[in-house]
This record gives sequence, C-alpha cells and structure tokens, in this order.
Amino acid sequence: MTAKVARFLAEQQPATPCLVLDVDRVAENFRALTAALPLARIYYAVKANPAPQILSRLVGLNSSFDAASAEEVQACLDAGAAPGVISFGNTIKKVSAIRRAFAAGVSLFAFDSAEELEKLARHAPGSRVYCRIMVENAGADWPLSRKFGTTIESARGLMARAGEMGLDPYGLSFHVGSQQTDTASYEAAIGKVAMLFTDLRDSGVNIRMVNLGGGFPTRYRDEVPGIDAFGNAIMGAMTRHFGNNLPEMLIEPGRFIVGDAGVVCAEVVLVSRRDKNDPVRWVYLDIGRFGGLAETEGESIKYRITTAHDGGAAGPVAIAGPTCDGADIMYERSNYRLPLALQSGDRVELLSTGAYVTTYASQRFNGFAPLTEYYV
Ligand SMILES: *Cc1c(COP(=O)(O)O)cnc(C)c1O
Repeated sequence: MTAKVARFLAEQQPATPCLVLDVDRVAENFRALTAALPLARIYYAVKANPAPQILSRLVGLNSSFDAASAEEVQACLDAGAAPGVISFGNTIKKVSAIRRAFAAGVSLFAFDSAEELEKLARHAPGSRVYCRIMVENAGADWPLSRKFGTTIESARGLMARAGEMGLDPYGLSFHVGSQQTDTASYEAAIGKVAMLFTDLRDSGVNIRMVNLGGGFPTRYRDEVPGIDAFGNAIMGAMTRHFGNNLPEMLIEPGRFIVGDAGVVCAEVVLVSRRDKNDPVRWVYLDIGRFGGLAETEGESIKYRITTAHDGGAAGPVAIAGPTCDGADIMYERSNYRLPLALQSGDRVELLSTGAYVTTYASQRFNGFAPLTEYYV
C-alpha cells in the first residue's frame, strides 16, 4: 500500500467497504511500462478501472486508450482524450456502438470474424482495422482464450478482404490472458503472428502494426516477474522475428497500470467456527464476490490481506462475503491464514485491488451498496 493510501485510511477512517487508489502510482506504473517497452504505444484498457481521475491522469501522460463499448469511448473523450488515440478493441460491437464511436472520430477498430468486418466496412468506412488472433493463454491466472480471436488461416483471408472492402488493414493483435505470469507466452504469440504478418506484407497487404494486448501481472499473494522481464522477452522476440523491420507496436495494459495503486478496506462482519475441533474459522467480510471481488471466482486472483493483528499467532481460514448467496465465497482451498485475534468489527485491507474491482460490484444485491471509491 502506498504512503498516501495509508495516510488517507488512517486519517479519514472511511466507511467500508471502500477502494482507496493512489493516482500517482498509476502514473509510476505507466512510466515503468514505458521504460520497459519504449517502442510500444500504451493503450490503457479502460475496463480495468474507468474512473475519470485515472483517465484524465493518463491523458496528461499522453496515453492512448483501449475501449470496449460506446460508453467507454465516451468516458475517454470526457477525460480529454482525442478520438485519434482511442482504439475500439472489443471484437463484439453493436452496430449502434460502432456508429457512435465513428461519428465521434474513432478510426481504429478490432475484429475477429467476417461479420464484424462487414459491420466495420459499412458503419466505419475507411477505418484502420486489426484482426485478433487466438493464442495460448497458459500461464494466465485469468485466461480469456476461447471467447476471442481467430485462426491464422482465417485471419489471412479476412485481412486481405479488409482492404478490398475499403478498410485499412492495419495490423494483428492477440491477448495472452490476464495476470499472465510467464514471459514465454508473449514470445510464443509473437512467433505465431510474425509469420502471418510477413506473409501478408509479402502478398501486398499494407499491414504495419502488431498489438501485443495486455496481461502484464500485478503482484498479489505470490511474486511475479518484474515488468522489465516482460519488456526484454517481448523485444527479444520482436527482434528475432522482424529483424530491423519492426512493425509499429501497441500494448493494452489494464491490470498492471492500476492494480497495485488501490487498496480495498473492509470490515470483518463475523468470525465463526463450525465446530470447536475444526481448526478452520470462517471469516465473513463486508465485501465479497458480488461487492467487486469477482476475480476470486475459482480462487483465480489471490489478494494479499493485511490486518492490525499481523505478526500474532495465525490459523487457517475460509474467507467469504456478506450476501446470502452460497457462491459468495472468496477463498476456501487456497490455504489462507489470518490472525487468531481477528474478530468482528476489525478492519482488514485487501492489497492491489485497483483493477477489476469497482466495476464488478453489483448494484444492490441483498441491498448492499456498490463499493465507495476514493482517488487520492
Ligand atoms: C481486458 C483486456 C485488456 C487488458 O488486460 P490486462 O490483463 O488487464 O492487462 C487488454 N486488451 C483487451 C482486448 C482486453 O480485453
């Protein structure tokens, strides 16, 4: 947790559950990624956290933006982004959303199917388009694989057709899966798209960009490789496959930019022991899967949890949310341990919760209000 977040929590003692996010840390992460991959242009994946405070800070840092809906496009424009730095990166777009974005001046769109390409040719004529390729998501704690992307063979035909339809066949993209902890996943994906890229260029398609997607990890409970390891692996693979003829490079980080900038402060509602001989206590917090911690599904993302009792004797726990839904359990199998002194009314902090938390909060399930947000 950053000093600014710690001070805010100590001085304000805000009602829980809430997210406190240090916007300076967002800027630091943006700069660290720029330093690790100086040749890549950063398109911040708005879905990770669309708070206006974050978007306008990134506009000030000359970031570009990856938007997934007409609403996210509008949020970028409202924050002061020029339409020319916004990519409409969702491969599944309503015609009305394409028309709205195009009318606002957005001219960069993703696709991964023939029908989407036809929609773009018709409703965003002349735009730059890039085709998303399906790649392996092994090594990712939050994979995206099966829902998006197409095969190399199909992309070859679609990219050739894009030009015939009056679109600008600008590039290829992939996403190696979110919270990707293995640098080799990027290397393999680059190798996969490089061959197609070269073939297309040799056959006369004016392709000039590779979009390496997001996936760069935030440190949660377990260590992850540093961002420089990803930068080195990516540049090594790009140079191996493209030599001195490097294409334009785009990246779409979400989690890495905002994840470790935020802390969720929560209250312990109840500590219960089912049986006096059962060593596992159930700890119920005032935030759960429906309050924003959706990425604990399958115990995929394992947040670090701190308490005021840390350092004292600890024991095994299951950790769950406050709703009446049986699925509202965060951790039961991931060997979490919390202090034995923990009791109802205590505050706990869930670290690195700046990404994929605020927008995943349900509106009013069981009457609980969505997470309060503070940007400091
Ligand atoms: C979600 C998403 C991202 C951001 O991924 P992170 O793992 O948060 O970096 C980037 N690009 C696309 C197309 C996405 O769907």
